[in-house]
Order: sequence, then C-alpha cells, then structure tokens
Amino acid sequence: MNAESKIYIAGHRGLVGSAIMRNLRTKKYGNLVYRTSAELDLRKQVEVNQFFQDEKPEYVFMAAAKVGGIISNSTYPADFIRDNLMIQTNVIDAAFRHGVKKLLFMGSTCIYPKFSPQPMKEEYLLTGELEETNEHYAIAKIAGVKMCEAYNRQFGTNFISVMPTNLYGINDNFDLKNSHVLPALIRKFHEAKMNSTPLVEVWGTGLPKREFLYSEDLADAVVHLMETYSGSDLINIGVGKDIAIKQLAEQVKEIVGYTGEIFFNTSKPDGAPRKLVEITKLKELGWEAKTPLEEGLKLTYEWFLQNLSEENLKS
Ligand code: GDP
Repeated sequence: MNAESKIYIAGHRGLVGSAIMRNLRTKKYGNLVYRTSAELDLRKQVEVNQFFQDEKPEYVFMAAAKVGGIISNSTYPADFIRDNLMIQTNVIDAAFRHGVKKLLFMGSTCIYPKFSPQPMKEEYLLTGELEETNEHYAIAKIAGVKMCEAYNRQFGTNFISVMPTNLYGINDNFDLKNSHVLPALIRKFHEAKMNSTPLVEVWGTGLPKREFLYSEDLADAVVHLMETYSGSDLINIGVGKDIAIKQLAEQVKEIVGYTGEIFFNTSKPDGAPRKLVEITKLKELGWEAKTPLEEGLKLTYEWFLQNLSEENLKS
C-alpha cells in the first residue's frame, strides 16, 4: 500500500471505520473512498458491484457490519445474521471480481466458543458451542472468515481476517438499547449525575470479564496488518488484559464523577463469562496496544460530552 493507493473503507462513519480513516490520513494515505449507507446499501449486490466497477479500489477495509450489545443481539437475531451475511458476502465477492489487491475482514471475539480456554487462541475457532446471546452474529462473522479463507485458496486472493476484542471510543453507539457495555455505562452514569439519580442499573451480576481496546489503537493495528501481513490465519487484536464488569462500572463511575450507588440487575443476561484474546501472534507481527483503559475511558467521555447533545441522547 502506498500514498496513492486507492483505499475503500466500508463503514467509514462507525466506531471502527472512522478510526481507520483518521489513522490512514495521519499515515499520509490520501486516496480514500467511502460511501454512507444512504449512498450505497451494502446489502444490495448490484449496487456493490457497480460501486467496485466505478471506483476500482485496490485495498478494502471491511469495517461495515450490523453490530450491537447483548440484548440487541438476542432480540434481533434475524437482522444480525441476515444483514451481516449480505454485507460481507457482497463486499468480499465484489473485491474478488474487481481485482482488489488486498482486503481486511473484521471478525469479532464472539466467534470463539463460549467456554473457550482463556486467553483465546486463534486456533480455538470452531472447537465448541457459541455463546447463545450473540450466536447469529457470530455465525455470520465465522462465515466471513471462512469466505476469505476459501477465496484465498480457490482464487488466490489476498484477504486477511482479524479478530478484534471489545472496542470502544470515538463515534461509538451510545444508544442504551443497542450499545455495548462501555458506552452504555458512560451514558448511564453521566445521566444519573446530571439528574441526581441515586441508583444506576448495571446488567447482570457484574462478574463477567471483558477486554477493551480503544478504537484508535484498533485502527493502528489493522493498518499495520494491512501493510505487513498476508495469509489466511486469523490474527487476534487485543490488549492482553481484561476487567470484570463490576470494576469497569466503578471506573466509569469515578471518571464521570457520579456519587450514587450501583445496582446489579441479575434478571439481565451475563453472556460469556470471559473473553480475553491471546495476542502472541500480533506481538510477533510487531504491534502492541498503546492506550491504557483509564486514558481511553477519559478520552471517550470527553468526546461524549463534546459531541452528543442532550437531544441526541433522548432516543
Ligand atoms: P458482549 O461482550 O457480547 O456480552 O456484549 P455487551 O458489551 O453488550 O455486554 C458485556 C457485559 O456487560 C454483559 O455481561 C452485560 O450483561 C454487561 N452489562 C452491564 N450493563 C450493561 C449495559 O447497560 N449495556 C450492555 N450492553 N451490557 C451491560
């Protein structure tokens, strides 16, 4: 990839895609192409092929996906499996048909078995049952990984798959019904502070552990891998450390400056007990995360305060 290479970022307005755009720009890649979902519906095969024919991108960052937190995933399984299968199939196939030099597909750590040994190595894929709350999303992502592998084997393409751990940061989704835990907690504690609410509800027991990677670090990792790595072997992207939801809630509470109490609503699901990825391969490829959780949380809360007006938050 060089400064003039034409690079398509699918999903450029989301948490991941927007971070990739910023990272590419700071690294002086100037020939970026992107479309909003209103301009190009990636679920429509004809539109996607037309776009690839018109633009002829050389490199593709596949950061477009339908994503959501634990309740959203378990409430709308059909949307998650359908939209993700359609989006990724159309983009991966069009990339092959239009001679893309390299494509990077973004998986997720929920593709690993629910009771996988920890930390989760790349080779644990398809060795056990999935966590049921996001099984349909995970099946779609596994199909994407396998599709890249199959195209590489049958057609000699250069499609790579990475597995990012739980992400957070700028442009995250702070909608309480659909968001993941970290943005949800930022918003809940912030609103409770503003309204002097005595209690904040945190879902589940607080015991599950999750690993959190700041979006800017993720973007730096995927650009690094696009520049340096080829092959069908998956690469995990994480920080190598996890934290219990209870501790996370306490940390967010402190950063936001909320002084009330936390209530754990155990009628809400816990999901997988733990999801920590093994990052030896990533380290061997020359990359490690730079942003400690506390710093990333502060940056995300600052962004939230500056960018999300009270009106946007009323949803
Ligand atoms: P997961 O990593 O796929 O399970 O997705 P989430 O980020 O949605 O949830 C992670 C953990 O945080 C689960 O154990 C949730 O029950 C817990 N959690 C606690 N409070 C919340 C909340 O307000 N929203 C979400 N999405 N999860 C929460």
